Amino acid sequence: MRKIKKCPKCGSRNIKWVLPQMWSMWECYDCGYQGALVIEECEDEEE
Ligand SMILES: [Zn+2]
Repeated sequence: MRKIKKCPKCGSRNIKWVLPQMWSMWECYDCGYQGALVIEECEDEEE
């Protein structure tokens, strides 16, 4: 199992680091959310 990160606002997995230097800042492509808080989940689906 590996961990995935999700947007706390819309639940999308389509998020990325805004700045590599600021490890705590995330941005969501789907709803535009920006912030330090993301949902971490264990993914049990197989790829
Ligand atoms: Zn979002």
